[in-house]
Amino acid sequence: SPLFAALKDQPSDSLLELIQLHGADPRTDKIDLGVGVYKDEQGHTPVMTAVKQAETILLNSQTSKSYLGTAGDMGFVEALIPVVFGEARRGDTALSGVQTPGGTGALRLAAELLNRARPGATVWVGTPTWINHFPLLEDAGLTIREYRYFDRNTQSVIFAGVRKALESAPPGDIILLHACCHNPTGADLSPEQWREVASLCAERSLLPLIDLAYQGLGQGLEADCSPMRDLLKHVPEALIAYSCNKNFALYRDRVGALFYQCGDEARRERLRGNLVNLARTLWSMPPDHGAAVVRLILSDAALARMWSDELDTMRRRVHSLRAALVAAHPGLGFLRWQNGLFSTLPLSPEEVLSLRTQHGIYMAASGRLNLAGLATAQVPVLAAALEPYF
Ligand code: PLP
Repeated sequence: SPLFAALKDQPSDSLLELIQLHGADPRTDKIDLGVGVYKDEQGHTPVMTAVKQAETILLNSQTSKSYLGTAGDMGFVEALIPVVFGEARRGDTALSGVQTPGGTGALRLAAELLNRARPGATVWVGTPTWINHFPLLEDAGLTIREYRYFDRNTQSVIFAGVRKALESAPPGDIILLHACCHNPTGADLSPEQWREVASLCAERSLLPLIDLAYQGLGQGLEADCSPMRDLLKHVPEALIAYSCNKNFALYRDRVGALFYQCGDEARRERLRGNLVNLARTLWSMPPDHGAAVVRLILSDAALARMWSDELDTMRRRVHSLRAALVAAHPGLGFLRWQNGLFSTLPLSPEEVLSLRTQHGIYMAASGRLNLAGLATAQVPVLAAALEPYF
């Protein structure tokens, strides 16, 4: 029989379906809280001015597009280190990285590396999590152990569950952590909880795999990373999958890096050799343009300032939308202490559907909403539509 006859149908991407439904909805007052990208008051996802300026410089100065190498643009990787890990770690040899196609590429490369180090190794994943985490880790061959991370009804982290997972994980297991702006719940660990996670990882020899896709969109560039930076002081080894696609709004340019912390020099070199070797068969080389733009921005004080100001404007817009919703409907108070673009409301799929049919409000069936999809003028409309449920 034809080879492709053996392929099974795959479920369609529900968020893409939601985009289509929203596009086809003729209502002019419809609200799109589905897609996971930042949007401004006008509902656009603009190119940042700092990015535009760096692109102009690049266009005028680039003289070759010859191959860069499997690890990508090391100037980009090194320029990110003080931003992500703090000034104190500039030049720290225990910390290095390779450029990857986005945070997704970084996670996939991490998963391949972990599976090469220990085939079928176990990763502890708190749920709910970014939907792509499961297939991404499993397709690489890793084993997933799930535990409940978030209680939709209390809208808070089930820290007892996190602790129990860490206490029952045997040494050498991997623990997946969201550094900030948890997707899809916005519920991050508190600094005290991070400290406890750090001690448990250290005591029990667990390897943190940290997903950092929203630096600067929660409490700010420094604050968003500070618990992770503390954790890294307590563990000898860790992997950090970083995305520049949200905080530089470079989405389609696929910019990211996989950083690794490893104090032992020989082991670190071997780790790097394996990352490069794996990347060679996955994508050979990461796409250059967006990473070159990020490198240019971060190596020019004025551009770097412009970028962090623009990022701060985005962050403050999301904050003020959260605050305005709570002011309009105090029953939504939990939105104030959650971070980033997303929160997950305790709504049933039927309730989500009825918000869509009755009010033209689009959100994922899970109840996840992207706050940035909202214009300030729509706050009272959303608050009123949610009133019966909270
Ligand atoms: N990690 C999380 C939690 C995400 O939400 C996303 C994107 O939505 C990513 C990683 C990967 O993003 P990208 O591959 O676009 O950099």
